[in-house]
Parts: sequence; C-alpha cells; structure tokens
Amino acid sequence: MNAPFPHPEVLDAPVATPGRDVCIATVSLIVPLHNEEEAIAPFLEAVYRNTELLTEQGIAFDFIFVNDGSTDDTLDTLLKAQKDDPRIRIIDLSRNFGKDAAMTAGLDYCDADAAIPIDVDLQDPPQVIPQLIEKWREGYEVVLAKPSGHSLRGTAKRRSALNPVQNLIATRKTSHEVRDFRLMDRQVVDALRSLPERQRHMRGLLTWVGFRTTSFDYDPEFRSAHPSQPRSRNPNTGRTGALTQPLQACTWLGAASAALALVYCGAIAAKTLIFGADIPAYAWLLASVLFIGGVQLVGIGVTGRYLVRMDAEIKQRPVYLLRRIYGS
Ligand code: UDP
Ligand code: MG
Repeated sequence: MNAPFPHPEVLDAPVATPGRDVCIATVSLIVPLHNEEEAIAPFLEAVYRNTELLTEQGIAFDFIFVNDGSTDDTLDTLLKAQKDDPRIRIIDLSRNFGKDAAMTAGLDYCDADAAIPIDVDLQDPPQVIPQLIEKWREGYEVVLAKPSGHSLRGTAKRRSALNPVQNLIATRKTSHEVRDFRLMDRQVVDALRSLPERQRHMRGLLTWVGFRTTSFDYDPEFRSAHPSQPRSRNPNTGRTGALTQPLQACTWLGAASAALALVYCGAIAAKTLIFGADIPAYAWLLASVLFIGGVQLVGIGVTGRYLVRMDAEIKQRPVYLLRRIYGS
C-alpha cells in the first residue's frame, strides 16, 4: 500500500532510537472544550504518558484546544498549561457554538501531517493513540477507534438510539459505535476544510469524505468514568431554536398519531377476526384519518427542518467566531 505517511524515506531509516532529535511526522490533537476546567490536567497527563514513546520515535505532537464559550475557568487553566507546554495552542471562540463547530475551528487551524479529534473527558482514551499512529503508518488515511461492545454513555447513547432510523433514510451509513475519535491524514483534513456547508454534523461529513479507512476495537475499560455533561451538541440559539422546536414537536406529534392509528387498526382488526364483532365504518375512517394525518405531520416537520437548515446555509454565516488565538 502506498503510505500517505509524510516522509517515508526518513521512516526507512532507524529513527526509532530513543532520544534521537528527528521529527518524522507532526500530529495535532484537536480538543474542543466547554466548561472543562477540571478535565484538562488529567487529560494532558494521560496524553503525555501515552505519547512519550512516540515522541522519542520522532512523532511531534501538538495540541489545539478550542475553548467553546466556556463560562468557568477553562481558558485560565489552558493558559496556565500553555506556560508549561508551548506545544499548546488555544483557539478561543466568541461564544458556545457546539462541539461540531469547535472541531471545525480546530481543524481549520491544524497544519500538522495528521489530526486526531479527541474529547477532553477521557471518554476517548489516549491509550489507543499509538495504535492510531501505527495504522496510519501502514498507509490508512482514516483510522477509527471504536469501543468494543456497547459502552456508549450519555448523549452519545441517546444519539445512537436514533442511528438506525437515520441510517434508514441516509444514503451513507454512519456507525453508532464510532465517535469523532479518529486519526485523519492531512489530505482528509484538507478535504473536510473544503466542504462549504455551515451546518457541520462532523460525523456525517467524516463519513462522506471517504478515503482509505480502517478501524479497530479498543477495550472499553480504557474509558474514564467521567460522566457526560447534560448539554446540547449543537446549541440552538435564538431564532433557529425558536423555529426548530415547534417543528420537532410537529414531527413527534405526527409520529405518535400515526402509531396510535396503527394500534387502533390492529385492535379493531383483532376484534373483527376473533370475536366477529361488527365494526362501524367510522372506526376505520377514524383510524385512516389519524394515520394519514400523522404521516403528513411527520412530513411537514421534516421538510420544515430542512428549510430551517437551508435558511441557515443561505445566510452564509461563519460556522464560528474567534475571540483570540493564544500560541503560534
Ligand atoms: N463540547 C464542546 N462544546 C459543546 C459541548 C461539548 O466543545 O457545546 C466538548 C466537551 O468539552 C468535550 C467534548 O465536546 O470535550 C464532548 O462533549 P460531551 O462529553 O458532553 O459529549 P459526549 O461524550 O456525550 O459525546
Ligand atoms: Mg463525553
């Protein structure tokens, strides 16, 4: 396989000698943060521990922390960490734009040979970084790390519950076991950056871009017990929120009505078949009206949400706004 690894000729040399001061590839860890002051120190410590050997082998890691409108001391904690480690770069956003926008910002400022988006709460274990790099060295441009078994928690779990339904209507399937945690080669990062859409559902975009992809399972025990905070991934603020909430209600109401109609149909059909009861025509009429009305409501809700998205795309607002960048 033709390796995308940056300097294959250097790779062939015996660079794995510890302490040798040669950089064979640069890798950025992209870390979105929203109110995570307490998670930063354990995260950095875990990354240092698990990348020590690779650093000695010539893989130069750096950090792009994206402060996504934190209201606690996340920024100060990051600035303190930056004093000890100049490899830390901090992208401070003007408000909370959501994880996908924060990741987009991180990728926009990544100039390394590869990028690894990683959560700061240690749900994406730094222990598997060496495996990600190893697969990259084998020539894969995207390397996915999945927790083996069903160990998703929090919002990831809630989102994964809807995944089979999403996959039914999607042209490209996304696996519910896969998080954003992955290694992406420079080419993949550039491809993602070239996508013009403002509504960034990163997992969908990452699947869409393709490239030579592989995945491996890791032990879910690696994951920390740090609970997911109850918050929205894409904060709906202002007008968008006010528009999508009634549409969402419309969709759920329609789905409930259609489901109720189906249950009602089943009940009256059973009554006729088992007890031979004579069912009045209005019962079937009622069931049909409920069902068709429900399906239409779902259609209106879904179409409406598409329109809201299109409205956001047409406005061409930036995905995020910067307050300041700390570090070079
Ligand atoms: N995050 C963010 N902006 C947000 C919400 C979350 O940057 O609006 C970050 C958060 O700090 C964490 C990562 O995204 O590093 C994952 O968040 P969380 O643990 O809440 O999500 P889950 O693990 O449930 O996917
Ligand atoms: Mg989490």
